[in-house]
Amino acid sequence: MNTNPERPPPVPVPELLKGQKALVTGANSGIGKATAIALGRAGADVVVNYASDRPAAEAVVTEIRSHGVHSYAHQADVSQEDQVTDLVSTMVDRLGTIDVLVANAGLQRDAPTVEMTLEQWEKVISVNLTGQFLCAREAIKEFLRRGVVPEVSRAAGKIICMSSVHQIIPWAGHVNYASSKGGVAMLTQTLAQEFAPQKIRVNAIAPGAIKTPINRSAWQTPEARTALLELIPYRRIGDPLDIANAAVVLASDLCDYVVGTTIYVDGGMTLFPGFATGG
Ligand code: NAD
Repeated sequence: MNTNPERPPPVPVPELLKGQKALVTGANSGIGKATAIALGRAGADVVVNYASDRPAAEAVVTEIRSHGVHSYAHQADVSQEDQVTDLVSTMVDRLGTIDVLVANAGLQRDAPTVEMTLEQWEKVISVNLTGQFLCAREAIKEFLRRGVVPEVSRAAGKIICMSSVHQIIPWAGHVNYASSKGGVAMLTQTLAQEFAPQKIRVNAIAPGAIKTPINRSAWQTPEARTALLELIPYRRIGDPLDIANAAVVLASDLCDYVVGTTIYVDGGMTLFPGFATGG
């Protein structure tokens, strides 16, 4: 029994993605790592993309393989077109195809706007937005080539874009990050509209505050943690498994009619918590 209220239980559905081939970008850490492992636990073969830290990626591969599925690690910078093309074509060569893409890789380069360099702006946009576009484009080419295989899934392919509550919540001091996630929202909807007739489901997950290295400063000290909890009506900081569990279900045929939407997994952060007592 799970007795830790901070830690959600994994989805108990080992067969939910049986036989499917999944690619998770930025899967050596945080949300991507938890998602890659959860997809493997649900029966998918999983490619673990990473930009750096091969030992961490290999540890994720080992854990995925313990669920009796195939997995390997592939280094690629998602902002580089040739590397993304190689990432997906290698997957098709090695695993036969791709059924699920979780476009998760992302980073922050925070600065007050008047101090933000063009390099900081472009780095975040190129990884968080262009990277998702490139991965989605290559996955969609393969979805279209292969079409629906009814024994595998009702859809020809599923894309989950890892967005953020900052696709709708403005975030002073983070204009590059918030703009990239606003772009991800429209990327998700536009791709969903364009390819729904071909049975490709494109959706997004918008995490709230999830305890990972990307936002360590927001939860590391007791003061920061207290301030953060004020923004979360459900009064707990999210765990990467909260996102991974949602991704497994969203990728599965249980969500076959879910097309072009964003699932907010945020403990209510987008409920304007300041208005609970004010306004
Ligand atoms: P993280 O730092 O643990 O993971 C980010 C991953 O992206 C790492 O594996 C990193 O190596 C990878 N990455 C960075 N640049 C890359 C590149 N050029 N090519 C390939 N991989 C690259 O942080 P996380 O919290 O797990 O973030 C995962 C995603 O979730 C990001 O898109 C982030 O914006 C989003 N998100 C996180 C939170 C949160 O509270 N943690 C909230 C909202 C959204």
